[in-house]
Amino acid sequence: MPPAQVVLSAPRDAAKGVTLQAIRQALQRGEFIYYYQPKVSMVSGRIAGAEALLRWRRPDGSMVYPNEFIPVVESTGFITEITIRMLERLVVDIARIRSVETGLVVSFNASARDFEDRRFVTALFRLFDSGRLASEEIEVEVTESAALAGKAELVEQLLQLRNRRVALAMDDFGAGYASIDALSCLPFTSLKLDNGVVRRMHASEKDAWIVNSNIRMAHTLGFDVVAEGVETEITYRELQQAGCSHAQGYWIARPMPLEDFLAFAASGQSWPDGEIGLIHMAILDHLEWRKFLINKLVLSRQLHLPLSKEDARRCQLAATDCRLGRWYDGPGRRLAGTAEYTELGKAHTALHACAKHMFELSKARTTPEQLGSAIRELSEHSVSIVARLQALEQVTPRRPRANAKASFSGVKNR
Ligand code: C2E
Ligand code: MG
Ligand code: MG
Repeated sequence: MPPAQVVLSAPRDAAKGVTLQAIRQALQRGEFIYYYQPKVSMVSGRIAGAEALLRWRRPDGSMVYPNEFIPVVESTGFITEITIRMLERLVVDIARIRSVETGLVVSFNASARDFEDRRFVTALFRLFDSGRLASEEIEVEVTESAALAGKAELVEQLLQLRNRRVALAMDDFGAGYASIDALSCLPFTSLKLDNGVVRRMHASEKDAWIVNSNIRMAHTLGFDVVAEGVETEITYRELQQAGCSHAQGYWIARPMPLEDFLAFAASGQSWPDGEIGLIHMAILDHLEWRKFLINKLVLSRQLHLPLSKEDARRCQLAATDCRLGRWYDGPGRRLAGTAEYTELGKAHTALHACAKHMFELSKARTTPEQLGSAIRELSEHSVSIVARLQALEQVTPRRPRANAKASFSGVKNR
């Protein structure tokens, strides 16, 4: 699906007879509502939130979908009237959603045009200041192409949203041409893999590779990854194995009216959970960590130069802190209590003791033999770490589930 937010002309939709005048009236009459599509945590297998998707429900009950009216309101800028007016509806819906399940986070879409002036951000901050909405209850989705247009006011407002601790998702990632540089410069907290790329994963090896690389890149930059367009169990499981953290798509549920979503959230159903993807990420994180440390020390030896100030700082930091350790003390704690987790902890402590020793050596005048022996010792610890992580893949505890991937009757809506 093309990123509707950046379509700035509307001939196709105008031809369908959806006019700005009709949309304006519909907004006044309260004919716009939100449908909610669940998002699931692939680690816990539980519902984590939902994306609010705009629907225009005509008085005769017929439904108009975003691809029919968003281009019209995008091209005229009227989208911002809708976004702001719908914030009121969102606040009321969120209160009901969180009365069912307190931790659920509701994402909604903001258009690039919503950042052309300050009305949207001001309206949102007013809601925070009034105490009617809390920043941790929401996430704002902005399409990749909008973000890449990178207008100064958009970037500035994204930063202000982040300063107020609003989660920001880059939507439809992979549909445009985001560069790693753009990603690292913008204050996003998560990345939503584009529907189309995810759905093509099985048809094309290249798309599968793109999805896997994007997940890895996002992980390295510290983003959560949400895959949208998850239509089959195999896609779900492959994404989970690749380290994707959340899934959204027809296999889980279609977007549905609020009342249906409330029942869905209360039903307690669950989907396959598992640590396997994060363990795989931890293995890669560890191998990269080892490579970084050794490369720097070997290079400095080869050049007969001390480490630069910056390299020395990074090596010292790496000797005491690593992403594997952060995973171990963070999400990995779900595996605490297993012998393999305890063993990994011991191996990790030994690894860092060795890394610290290596770093100390690098500051002294070491012989190539001393450095070689230290690298060999570090490598032995590293082999042990990888073996223990692989052992953990096998022991991911199976938690009892009420009704794994129960089909939820009554949800037929798009
Ligand atoms: P999006 O934000 O990328 O939303 C995901 C779209 O993919 C939704 O279409 C959803 O129904 C559809 N989808 C979800 N799971 C699957 C799946 O498994 N397979 C397939 N084929 N499709 C799936 P929808 O609701 O028609 O929305 C289309 C686009 O319209 C959205 O794309 C978003 O860009 C825009 N949009 C929707 N609501 C709003 C809104 O409130 N404000 C703004 N500015 N844009 C909105
Ligand atoms: Mg979206
Ligand atoms: Mg999307």
